[in-house]
Amino acid sequence: MNLRVPGPTPLPPQVREASAADMINHRGPEFRELLGAVVADLRHVFQTDNEVVIVTGSGTGGLEAAIVNLISPGDRVIAATCGVFGERFAAIAQAFGAEVINLAAPWGQAIDPLELEAALDRTPDAQLVLVTHNETSTGVTNDLRSLAEVVRARRRGGRPLLVVDGISSVGAIPLPTDTWECDVVVTASQKAWMAPPGLAMLSVSARAWEAMERATCPRFYWDLRAARRYAERGQTPWTPAVGVLYGLRVALQMMRTEGLEAIYARHRRVGQRMREGARALGLELFASPAYASDTVTALRVPSGANGEALVTRLREQGVVVAGGQGKLKGQVLRVGHMGYVDVGDIEQVLEALGRALALG
Ligand SMILES: *Cc1c(COP(=O)(O)O)cnc(C)c1O
Repeated sequence: MNLRVPGPTPLPPQVREASAADMINHRGPEFRELLGAVVADLRHVFQTDNEVVIVTGSGTGGLEAAIVNLISPGDRVIAATCGVFGERFAAIAQAFGAEVINLAAPWGQAIDPLELEAALDRTPDAQLVLVTHNETSTGVTNDLRSLAEVVRARRRGGRPLLVVDGISSVGAIPLPTDTWECDVVVTASQKAWMAPPGLAMLSVSARAWEAMERATCPRFYWDLRAARRYAERGQTPWTPAVGVLYGLRVALQMMRTEGLEAIYARHRRVGQRMREGARALGLELFASPAYASDTVTALRVPSGANGEALVTRLREQGVVVAGGQGKLKGQVLRVGHMGYVDVGDIEQVLEALGRALALG
């Protein structure tokens, strides 16, 4: 099967093999070495000198970890959203008692930095700004560099912190954490990392660690201060997904060998080929072309065609894609192209898509 959903993504054979190895004591020396190697490589890909914390859970768990560690009930939080995942991030903050100011861009569009600027001016006491770097539901990559610059220019006394959902971008699309002064960046093992689901990874700035000491939101499993304490001795507070870490270690070695610039260039090639090929088939991108993502492409289901039937026709040809989420159900097809992917995989998708469309 050509698995082309936006996560979980396919595994290289070396990663599959590594993930199947026998267990070790997660309080022993082998684990210390494993965690150390993975964290060092993650910091390289995050382009950060900040600590990177690994927690066992899905990406959403990572987002919740960021929220519960940083807010106190009643805190004002600006959530810049343009799709399902941005709304989920906002909903998590709301669930834990934040007063969420929703700055919503139309779906398919990117968040406008000028609107974020205006929202920050209206909300000078905002504690956090939440941004989804790559909105997986619409296939939009936000201009995080400009958004981060707006936050930086308005930061007073260390507030607000910039908290980024980079779940479907880090490791595939450039996100220089330190250069852009991102306080927390969250990602997850089953996206661009070529590893199985089960781990969320978060970079945490010095400012964010300080904020965690003051935040009063209750937390236990997701308490990143505990993760930080345990990391000092090469451990995690609770039993981690050891098998996923084995796979991730090998995937990160592959990423080091390929090199960050080459990885970014490969994703640009793949994204471009997907968009170009889809247009040649007469399909329309859902995302505004200037912000079209290099890790996931959302295509409008042509009028008269049935979205669900198209997904089934593709599946019958060995290509597995995703449909639309939320209000986009039945309206878009989403093709994931992050991690272990090259142009050949996309040619296969395009051929199958051509046949599926011809069948109506
Ligand atoms: C996949 C994804 C999530 C959710 O991750 P889970 O691992 O399914 O919890 C959140 N945000 C973005 C941008 C994603 O692509």
